[in-house]
Amino acid sequence: MNQTSPTPCAPVATIRQRGQHEVFCGLTSIIWLHRKMQDAFFLVVGSRTCAHLIQSAAGVMIFSEPRFATAIMEERDLAGMADMHDELDGVVEKLLQRRPDIRMLVLVGSCPSEVIKLDLQRAAERLNHRLAPKHRVISYSGSGIETTFTQGEDNFLAALVADNAANSAQDKACDLVIAGCLADVVEDQFSRLLTAMGVENFCFLPGRQSDGVPRIGPKTRYILAQPYLGATAAALEALGATRINAIFPLGEEGTTEWLRAIAQSFGVSETLFDTVTSGPRQRARQAISHYRPMLEGRSVFLFPDSQLEPSLARYLCREAGAEIIEIGSPYLHREHVAGEFALLPVGVSVSEGQDVEVQIDRCRAANPDLIVCGMGLANPFEAEGRVTKWSIEFAFTPIQGYEQAGDLAELFARPLMRNAILAEGSRSFGGGRP
Ligand code: SF4
Repeated sequence: MNQTSPTPCAPVATIRQRGQHEVFCGLTSIIWLHRKMQDAFFLVVGSRTCAHLIQSAAGVMIFSEPRFATAIMEERDLAGMADMHDELDGVVEKLLQRRPDIRMLVLVGSCPSEVIKLDLQRAAERLNHRLAPKHRVISYSGSGIETTFTQGEDNFLAALVADNAANSAQDKACDLVIAGCLADVVEDQFSRLLTAMGVENFCFLPGRQSDGVPRIGPKTRYILAQPYLGATAAALEALGATRINAIFPLGEEGTTEWLRAIAQSFGVSETLFDTVTSGPRQRARQAISHYRPMLEGRSVFLFPDSQLEPSLARYLCREAGAEIIEIGSPYLHREHVAGEFALLPVGVSVSEGQDVEVQIDRCRAANPDLIVCGMGLANPFEAEGRVTKWSIEFAFTPIQGYEQAGDLAELFARPLMRNAILAEGSRSFGGGRP
């Protein structure tokens, strides 16, 4: 049952919503995953709708061979008139003949494949018997049935961890796994900072190559770089890895506390930690201060979309001085985001799931200065004269780490600045909103 009135957090009390939701499905995550892992290929087993979604979201790559495609299920497949496993084997065979450079083939499930109960895990196992070790085949679900776009990444990483358990040829276990897709530039910055602190034998999940993650075992510690990785965390813990608890590396504070948690876990002295981080911290604070006057005191309403919302809200509130009205998230991994909520002021409302019409009413009543929401809601809100920011941009843009702390502030400040310029222009021409 839906509650319709907000309740304050700290301790976190949430509005649980189980109505219509408007978020992209897990297939969307292929757009950033296929760029990350250079020798992987994502084969969606889905309908024409699925093909259109990833093609239009990713754009058509004219100058390069794409690393994703859709095996389109036709009506006869959906009606059970064809053997789907035979058809899939045929598609895979043709693909690998044309693209022998593919090292990891990722079968991605969709709503249609789930509805007809096509077992892609079994298909991956069968194909592995034939194709390994030249090609590895794994599978995960990107279906939009009760999932959001960041859960696609979560499911993919969990499948990678399971594959690592079954196939890692390396003897030495990895000491530290940094889990969560990060831009290469962010990974490079974190690598330099960790190395300067003397932390060694760490790796990023996903790696840039499909065999890039060393063996994960009971000696491995892991830290999440993204807050939406519940299935990945469970898969890592099933192999004996232990989680380093931290808030997420957004902004100067988030990055410092995230790095400090690693440093403490690996016995790095406070002095060395301060020496390594003081310069970047100073730069991050300076970069944020440039945008703070545009964000300070502004009220922000975050609709549930990327699952980054609690971390974004903490950053906006504590580093940019914004006032948070509501933090919506499609799903809350309470243990993973407890640190974020502990830093937010009492009185901030939290909602989990979505009942979109009820939430739109709450948002209109609150009349915030900035609405962070999905693309489907942004246009109607803009038509009402409200200022919006697309949440999906936070998944595509490098925002983690010290050097990106100012860019993150700019992402929020830009629509407010644009609105101010338009309002000014409108006044100059003797107009203005009614
Ligand atoms: S997986 Fe489901 S929600 Fe996503 S594009 Fe395909 S049919 Fe639509």
